[in-house]
Amino acid sequence: MKAIVVRPPSTGAEITDIEIKPEKLDGLSIKILENGVCGTDREIVKGLMGEAACPPGDRYMVLGHEAIGILEEDGKYLKKGDIVMPVNRRGCGKCLNCLCGRPDFCETGEFIEAGISGMHGFMREKIIDYEEFLVPVPKEIRDIAILAQPLSDLEKSFDEIVSVQRRMIWTCKDGTYNCRKALVVGTGPIGILMGLLLRSNGLMVYMANKREPTEKESKIFQTAGIEYINTEDDFSGVLMSGLRFDLIFEASGGTADIAAKSLKILKNNGVLGIFGFSSTGHAELSSEDLQKLVYRSIAVVGLINGQKPHFQRAMLRLSEWNTIWPEIMKELITKTVNINDKVSVMKVLESKGPGEIKVKITW
Ligand SMILES: [Zn+2]
Ligand SMILES: [Zn+2]
Repeated sequence: MKAIVVRPPSTGAEITDIEIKPEKLDGLSIKILENGVCGTDREIVKGLMGEAACPPGDRYMVLGHEAIGILEEDGKYLKKGDIVMPVNRRGCGKCLNCLCGRPDFCETGEFIEAGISGMHGFMREKIIDYEEFLVPVPKEIRDIAILAQPLSDLEKSFDEIVSVQRRMIWTCKDGTYNCRKALVVGTGPIGILMGLLLRSNGLMVYMANKREPTEKESKIFQTAGIEYINTEDDFSGVLMSGLRFDLIFEASGGTADIAAKSLKILKNNGVLGIFGFSSTGHAELSSEDLQKLVYRSIAVVGLINGQKPHFQRAMLRLSEWNTIWPEIMKELITKTVNINDKVSVMKVLESKGPGEIKVKITW
């Protein structure tokens, strides 16, 4: 079958015909309809992701961890013709968290991830998968459903932030999060989705980048009631203005010093959530800085990878947004390329286009 293949740690990707030995004989056959492309795919293609690894016994890996497809046969609950999204991370089969459906908290670190590490990905004509890893896609959001994979990571992130903040009263006098101020640093796809997610959970949301917003970004932020801050090179302007946050979500993919500097504009008892991973730069924290974190009860939490319940919630969230912000939803898929257009496919796998939010490959 046709597939997009990588050979980590070598750089590059190719569209080629492959024969994959049946991985799951008793799984369901799914014809792939679309794949999403994100920074992780590009890091793998550029040979920059240390974790990238071929499945055991293979010298190549099919790329892709964001996909929707159509079921070609009936399952126990799902039916032939249903549109589904496969969950991308699978457990180690050993630790308690993995055995209970939460490989995002794998204790051994031996989990595998489709198209990233130890498991063939979804950028191919067909996959065979078990029903337990498939999430139904509501028909009304078919066009934007590919966003549910990255959004699942953010549903999980918000869950985790709320559970960390259960150490105190974090809801407001009216029982909502309406009085809490959140800053999302970075306006890439993850930043924008997190801004919208926090907004639809009722928080006051500010988004920051070190430039003026694009026209598209302005439209999205205005519609959702999100404030934009041009932080230029650091947070000194924010620091001077006196604006302080209950939550800072770092999604800039920038260098370590951004996270360290942002601690200064957190309120007491605030939480800094760090998403993703930048492999460059370093930050220095003095003993006094750490002492302040302790005195001010600041929490720093690493956020990654949603699981099936978060995928399910992401589907509902997209349906909700499609109702309340239909004009925003139209803006989020910024490019679609077909697998037969090899040149364009390679281009989107190699680098991010100007103004890109989400690119998808159709089959
Ligand atoms: Zn991704
Ligand atoms: Zn595990």
